[in-house]
Amino acid sequence: MKTKKKIIRNRESSIQKYRFYIQTAFLLLCIWIGVDFYFFVHYLQSNGSVEYFNRPPGVDGFLPISSMMSFYLFLKTGIIHPAHPAGMFIFAAIVLVSLVFGKAFCSWLCPIGFISEMIGDFGEKIMRRKLILPKWLDYTLRSLKYLLLGFLFYAVFVMMSIAAVKMFLNSPYNQVADIKMYFFFVDISKTALIILAVLFVLSIFIRNFWCRFLCPYGALLGLVSFLSPHKIKRNPVSCIDCGLCAKACPSAIKVDKVITVVSDECSTCMNCVDACPVADTLDLKSIYTKKKISKKIVAIGVVVIFMLITGIGIFTGHWQNDITAQQYLIHYKLMDTYGHPTGTTAINKLDQESKKKKNMDKQTNTKAQK
Ligand code: SF4
Ligand code: SF4
Repeated sequence: MKTKKKIIRNRESSIQKYRFYIQTAFLLLCIWIGVDFYFFVHYLQSNGSVEYFNRPPGVDGFLPISSMMSFYLFLKTGIIHPAHPAGMFIFAAIVLVSLVFGKAFCSWLCPIGFISEMIGDFGEKIMRRKLILPKWLDYTLRSLKYLLLGFLFYAVFVMMSIAAVKMFLNSPYNQVADIKMYFFFVDISKTALIILAVLFVLSIFIRNFWCRFLCPYGALLGLVSFLSPHKIKRNPVSCIDCGLCAKACPSAIKVDKVITVVSDECSTCMNCVDACPVADTLDLKSIYTKKKISKKIVAIGVVVIFMLITGIGIFTGHWQNDITAQQYLIHYKLMDTYGHPTGTTAINKLDQESKKKKNMDKQTNTKAQK
């Protein structure tokens, strides 16, 4: 028989209101970047006849593959590639947030995560319940994002040498990847529109459908989050087994059944901590010091880390790229002729070209020495 526990009420105020403010601010920032980018593209479309509008560097944050490759190049060589430097700093900031606070980027900053959350809330309101998929289907679908991530990792880290990565980043295709992405959404194809509509509808019924099953960024951050020293911990002594934490978890984690939440799906949203009615029973804690990390520290920490790393990019002059307005006008005219420099053949070609260039350099050096 269970002994009756003395309940000390949890009187800490909820952090969800502040999480909503931060998410909204970040979404507005992204909309602002989108509007600025529209004016920049408008300048290109006018063939330079209207006043030049600076390209907003923050748009680089929407080029995850290019940003990841820049980050990889930086780690390997110390070089900050000039094509989309802001993307590299945004990528580094997101990874660092995940290293410190788990997958917190997804629930505190990501605009797609925020929109998914709102669609999920709307779905739960109309259905009046959470739809939980059977385990086998959930695990199968969740593996999709890891397959996508695995494919990306294989294409970049296995198939490409550093020289090939450099050549990709230098390629005109990469330089205009942001403009191509803009037209992908502005002149959206029927197929893409149907896919987006399907994702929208699925997100109403299955919370965070895109984030949970398909987002390779989320997969990467989920893996990085395992290295984070901060985890949600439940005190089984004071826990009254009410199950409110599990009920509040948007990732359907059985928080009430574990002592420590170790899950690639935990986004440190703190919903479970806010839902727990008993003081000092469910908290984010350091696995080393066992000390509680207050909800405010999570909110401030996520924003400060993000601003600090992107601030380093801004203040060291590695934010805006070095492509001039004139170069952009030429790119814009030729853009449709730029092929995507990926795929085995293209990568091999890039490698062959880089080897050829190395041999030519060697021959020139030998001749010069003679
Ligand atoms: S376990 Fe808690 S912090 Fe993690 S996703 Fe669920 S509700 Fe959010
Ligand atoms: S919310 Fe979860 S951790 Fe808190 S008392 Fe209920 S079951 Fe225990």
